[in-house]
Amino acid sequence: MPKPLAVYQSKRKFDSTPEPRGGAKIRPAKHLRFVVHKHDATRLHYDLRLEIDGVFHSWAVTRGPSLDQADKRLAVEVEHHPLEYGDFEGTIPKGEYGGGTVMLWDRGFWSPIGGDKPNDALEAGELKFVLAGERLYGSWVLVRMKKDREGGKRTNWLLIKHRDEWARPGDADALLADSKSVASGRTIKQIQSGTGKGPSPFMRGGRRGAKADAVWNGADKMELSSEAPRRDAKSRRARKSASISSVGNRILGVVISKPDKVLWPAQDNFPAVTKIELAEYLATVGPWMIEHLRGRPCFLLRAPDGITAETFFQRHAMPGTSPLVGTVKVSGERAPYLQIDEVDGLVAMGQLAALEFHPWNCAPFEPETPGRLIFDLDPAPDVAFSRVVEAAKELRERLAALGLIAFCKTTGGKGLHVVTPLQTRRNDSLDWNDAKAFAQTVCAQMADDSPSDYLIKMTKSLRSGRIFLDYLRNDRTATAVAPLSPRARAGATVSMPLNWSQVRNDLDPRRFTIHSVPALLRKTVPWAEYRTSARALRAALTKLVAKSL
Ligand code: ATP
Ligand code: MN
Repeated sequence: MPKPLAVYQSKRKFDSTPEPRGGAKIRPAKHLRFVVHKHDATRLHYDLRLEIDGVFHSWAVTRGPSLDQADKRLAVEVEHHPLEYGDFEGTIPKGEYGGGTVMLWDRGFWSPIGGDKPNDALEAGELKFVLAGERLYGSWVLVRMKKDREGGKRTNWLLIKHRDEWARPGDADALLADSKSVASGRTIKQIQSGTGKGPSPFMRGGRRGAKADAVWNGADKMELSSEAPRRDAKSRRARKSASISSVGNRILGVVISKPDKVLWPAQDNFPAVTKIELAEYLATVGPWMIEHLRGRPCFLLRAPDGITAETFFQRHAMPGTSPLVGTVKVSGERAPYLQIDEVDGLVAMGQLAALEFHPWNCAPFEPETPGRLIFDLDPAPDVAFSRVVEAAKELRERLAALGLIAFCKTTGGKGLHVVTPLQTRRNDSLDWNDAKAFAQTVCAQMADDSPSDYLIKMTKSLRSGRIFLDYLRNDRTATAVAPLSPRARAGATVSMPLNWSQVRNDLDPRRFTIHSVPALLRKTVPWAEYRTSARALRAALTKLVAKSL
């Protein structure tokens, strides 16, 4: 029995699951094989399996592969699977590890790009490869994400499509609409009910394998033939995106008690939102949201009886909060703060009726280092929203002139937040005093130039007709509500990250709610460039000083 399967075998009870034990002789093929299982488990996901050294290295791709190169998909590394798993289709009983129905969604051959051995490339954290399957073609890359310093329990990767003729920009989920088995032609429902014929073998030879083999130009060139069957427009028209499937009251393994409890009562034209809907929302947008939470202390606004009853801020982890969330010690504080690093941790907080998520603005895992600046635009009640939009655009230009790239989000409330990511190279990082001074100066200049529009003092009496430029979010322990966090406000509005083209005079922040946002995120990915837009505060500060002289 090959040792790489020890974990696979220890996780399963082979009297209870129909999955293969591992250990069967599978002959090597001319090329490395891959399969993608569609796995209708607690949460629907897709398992990518690449044959390497006689086993399948496997990743759970939470939202499935995307043909849009801008749409990076989280791929959680899981245990190696035996090669005969590549012919497995069936239902793992509820309660067993991976309980749910497994469908062979794609299969074919793959090859690493470049000279490195696959295992070396994986070790180095970046594997570029080509696929020639029935649904997936062309070049891809798996990139390992920075390991959690706290020793996170999983290794997360991103699965990204390369730009090539098989890429489909803007059409992220189109191919997921194809939902019949490539091996048996069955739907998940048919597999579940055990009807239809079983899968044709691929790993154990058979004609299908030969057919897929033909799409290669040759073993040495490792290029994909342009003859490879194209995906037709029909499936794109019929596109329906993958959704979080909840079995009973479980979401991502978290049991949601009182799932029908109304947290946001119906109001005006907004429908009510229940606790299970909150948990589903957090599971769906979690992969985006978690990027802005990971490695940072996070405050929660909790509303156990809904937004019309008592709400409270929770800063510290309490005993028994949840094993799915971490804690972080910060200097000057005895009790550790909460820290949410994983999507299931977000869902676990939803279970506790945490409605709002307010992280620090530090660099991940570096509480003393500013990781982003937040400018909080707070209009007086008599100010039209279009003027807040103007303010955000002006601020963007002011920051751009200093070499910083700004992003905008609604707050889910009355104003807008303008955010700029900072580079945090360790030795060059400035501290929070510098960050606050910088933000204050930028805001002060803006207010000096248009004193009838803006002010930087909190004085209520002076505020009427003007927008308060709140630079004080830029401090060590200050927070701002996270992108995509719901708000404990009427209608279950959300702090929605926007592209600048959406920051227009007719922008209506009330459009973005727990109900509307998941679908909007399938159409466009806002802030796609966020990660690559971090700039050095030191350089910006130098420019600011030069300008003020
Ligand atoms: P709005 O657009 O309605 O102003 P907002 O999120 O910007 O929404 P603010 O009241 O301006 O709300 O507060 C800005 C940020 O300051 C919040 O997002 C939150 O993270 C933080 N904050 C506000 N009030 C508190 C509080 N009582 N305790 C802790 N943090 C707070
Ligand atoms: Mn505000």
